[in-house]
Amino acid sequence: MANPAQKAALVTGASRGIGRATALKLAADGFAVVVNYAGNTSLAEQTVADIETLGGRALAVQADIGDMEAVERLFAQILETFGRIDVVVNSAGIMQMAKIATDNIGMLDKTLSTNLRGSWLVMAKAAETVSEDGRIIALSSSVLGKSFPGYGAYIASKAGVEGLVKVLANELRGRNIAVNAVAPGPVATELFFEGKSEEQVASIANLAPFERLGQPAEIADVVSFLAGPKGRWVNGQILRVNGGMV
Ligand code: NDP
Repeated sequence: MANPAQKAALVTGASRGIGRATALKLAADGFAVVVNYAGNTSLAEQTVADIETLGGRALAVQADIGDMEAVERLFAQILETFGRIDVVVNSAGIMQMAKIATDNIGMLDKTLSTNLRGSWLVMAKAAETVSEDGRIIALSSSVLGKSFPGYGAYIASKAGVEGLVKVLANELRGRNIAVNAVAPGPVATELFFEGKSEEQVASIANLAPFERLGQPAEIADVVSFLAGPKGRWVNGQILRVNGGMV
């Protein structure tokens, strides 16, 4: 049953990786959490079970963030279950490597559909529904600063996300809702490891002066800061969280 006294957070892409760590952290911070995912029901249910074991409240909701009707249903379900939405973290995302070539246009469309169209749809519903003093947090990427070959579609999608964040912060003038992005450097998740050799992983891990990959919990801690009372004066910003990789 809804307990509108407890703040509620939506974390998209919370079955795995950074989203899962963020859902756990926000639950520990006291939020009731909606754990969104695309297809991995058992992993999403595991995130929920882990939150409940720690004494928190959570609900898994499947929705492809690139699908307008699915996103409408997702937000309706949060309001029905928890009675309010205070924080929206859009962590769902995909990364595929391919050069900028005519034949790879399908990969661009797929990437933009989840990473950019999905961000638009989630941010749009968040703008409609998030309570006064709420927070909207998108995930970008520090790889924007690198321009590595093969990252064209991914970088284009995340550059778009950074643009949306700044515009939405302005569009929400007067409502006391902060909109920011966290832009991690390489983080040890499936998204990062997929398709990379051990040598590639080692060489990318070595880019930061700290000479290692980030961990999902290290990104979740920054999201928690932005979502909590100490982050209240941060608005319209892109926080690069990457161990010093420039
Ligand atoms: P993972 O691949 O570990 O997890 C991706 C998550 O997104 C899963 O929960 C997946 O659900 C969900 N997802 C994917 N597509 C959709 C969709 N269309 N609708 C709803 N959910 C979807 O990724 P990370 O945790 O590594 O990445 C999280 C975010 O951080 C992404 O936006 C990524 O671009 C960004 N990022 C990651 C970095 C890294 O090095 N890992 C670095 C910089 C940024 P399911 O399990 O059901 O498939």
